[in-house]
Amino acid sequence: MRLDTPTLFLMTVVVTFMVGVLFLLSWGQSRRTRALAIWGVAHLGGAGASALLCLRNSIPDSLSVGFGNAMMLAAYGLIWSGVRAFEGRKPAYLVAVSGGVLWGAACLVPAFYGSLAARIMLASSVAGLFCALCAGEIWRGRREPLASRWSAIVLMAAYALLYWVRVPLAVFAPLPPSTRSQDSPWLAILCFAGVLFTMAIAFVFMAMTKERAELKQRLAAETDSLTGLANRRAFVGRTQIHLGGRVQPVALILFDLDHFKTINDTYGHAVGDGVLLAFGHAANAVLPAGALLGRMGGEEFACVLVGCEAEAAARAAEQVRTTIAKIALAAYPRLKIRVSAGVAVTQPGQAGSFDDLMRRADAALYGAKDAGRDRVVTALALAA
Ligand code: GH3
Ligand code: MG
Ligand code: MG
Repeated sequence: MRLDTPTLFLMTVVVTFMVGVLFLLSWGQSRRTRALAIWGVAHLGGAGASALLCLRNSIPDSLSVGFGNAMMLAAYGLIWSGVRAFEGRKPAYLVAVSGGVLWGAACLVPAFYGSLAARIMLASSVAGLFCALCAGEIWRGRREPLASRWSAIVLMAAYALLYWVRVPLAVFAPLPPSTRSQDSPWLAILCFAGVLFTMAIAFVFMAMTKERAELKQRLAAETDSLTGLANRRAFVGRTQIHLGGRVQPVALILFDLDHFKTINDTYGHAVGDGVLLAFGHAANAVLPAGALLGRMGGEEFACVLVGCEAEAAARAAEQVRTTIAKIALAAYPRLKIRVSAGVAVTQPGQAGSFDDLMRRADAALYGAKDAGRDRVVTALALAA
């Protein structure tokens, strides 16, 4: 099969243009993701650059070879800027266009402009560099679990390699002097690959954007908006997972702030909110690594500790209790924060349901309140 270069060029222009429009339309729907706008402009610029390169023999070379390639390199830089914006970093527009500027400056040197190999080497090095930088930026953000992130890294790294392979080839396997650059098989291959990559980039970048929105929604649905802790639903779900695959004991601590209603009534709801927030921070700071703290509602919190026996769990609860008691707010010197806690642990070798564990921890908490508050009671001690 022969790949007809002008047809491929036309396809590149149309596909790149459509991808640019698609990015801008997505951005228009929810203007929160600036990266979509940057990618949109980059692709429209890329389509313009492709059109200039298409018209190589119909317009002055300075416009086609000179400006067209400069615009193309700036478009690659902008795609990288968009990736940076997507990853929450500064888009660095000046660096983005520097490849195009470098190209323009190099074209002013006749020895460079007259050498096809030199032009291929510079353009491919810069385009490949921006693709590799894109892969690097997406890799840096890998802590955010987006499934398409890995496809995007592979895609951008492969695109970089494709460009970089051209650099040694321009030196070691130069085109015969008679070959017109438009007839070069490389041009057809790059054009064809370019169209495929453009479509693939549109697909994975859109997928990453959508996955991020879904992840944010899921996190918001699982997070308590005041304290940022897991809410009841998320806490129960995660604890049930621990209980399901249990080979080690699982400890549950229920915390309930003492006389919290009085704090609200005396100092106001906003101060009450501040106390809840302070409890979350302080408890998280002293609880062992791996502990899951959640807000069950109102002034009730729960903590699950996997692989923790009753004694260790009671010690952790006690540490939270003493830490909370030391919190002093300069503006409210008479404000005291106290907490009661109930601890329950799954019995070794016994299948325990979450409800059972919860019921026993709740009974222990009730025991702590009954015994005068500001203390930790464990379910085992209660049963003895
Ligand atoms: P006890 O020592 O027996 O636990 O008494 P308590 O006053 O802490 O318990 P009670 O259940 O009587 O009061 C809980 C209060 O918590 C009542 C409710 O208005 C308040 N509350 C629930 N959610 C919030 C919240 O998000 N912010 C604030 N500021 N107060 C809340
Ligand atoms: Mg309560
Ligand atoms: Mg209370």
